[in-house]
Amino acid sequence: MNCPECGARNHQCKTRFDEFLVLEFTDAGYGAVHHLTVAAYMVQHSSKLTREGWLFERDLLREFLAENKSPAYIRKQNKDVVDSGKRTFKIKSKTGVPVINKTTWKKTILDVRSENSEVYCEGISAWARSVLEEAEAIEIERG
Ligand SMILES: [Zn+2]
Repeated sequence: MNCPECGARNHQCKTRFDEFLVLEFTDAGYGAVHHLTVAAYMVQHSSKLTREGWLFERDLLREFLAENKSPAYIRKQNKDVVDSGKRTFKIKSKTGVPVINKTTWKKTILDVRSENSEVYCEGISAWARSVLEEAEAIEIERG
């Protein structure tokens, strides 16, 4: 069975995501794109998120890719919001109901090759850009 959310064959996306996270945590060359891996995966798998959480992850992708903000800058920005109690929404959902109904994407995490960190970082970036481009076209109401 293919993944009902990103369309990856045999539902291999979760396994691949877990393998990539291990790579990223053990090798800094791979870890350089960790922020993109997580945000792109989350945007494609909206059942893990609340509606506000999905919008938050899409905004993150946009900030990384379109506005070129660094992960450190965004971490600080988000931390300030959380610390000041300004973030009033939950990101993760336990209902398992997808926020968006898109089930086919041009690229999935399975398109990313990982034989060396250079190829890997390029692959993750290309996948993340493709996800953002398609996610930008999804209309969803802000709460
Ligand atoms: Zn998937």
